[in-house]
Amino acid sequence: MNRELTCIICPLGCNIKVRHENGAVLEVSGNTCPRGKTYAITECTTPMRTLTSSVRCKGGKLLSVKTDRPIPKEKWMEAMAIVNRQHPALPIAVGDVIIEDVFGANIVATKNID
Ligand code: SF4
Repeated sequence: MNRELTCIICPLGCNIKVRHENGAVLEVSGNTCPRGKTYAITECTTPMRTLTSSVRCKGGKLLSVKTDRPIPKEKWMEAMAIVNRQHPALPIAVGDVIIEDVFGANIVATKNID
């Protein structure tokens, strides 16, 4: 099976072709550097994404949050269930860890709330 990807690691946006079969990557071409190959293999085997969401704080205000690194896309629903159970107390500052170690990433605040 063949797949074409646009590498998102740097602004060059190389067009990468991947030949894969039964979950195994057989060939990667079109990448200009090794980072593109790593990205393509990961994208075809264990796609990772940064999760963005919001949580309702104690008192009712909404706080936008995100993972501080990508997590496996297949774990998003479980991660969302964990995030939705949280009701952090205020005040909160950008970068505060709201939940530790959700599939290898921390959930952090992306705004300040007094
Ligand atoms: S393959 Fe390398 S040069 Fe091309 S977009 Fe990806 S990171 Fe950039």
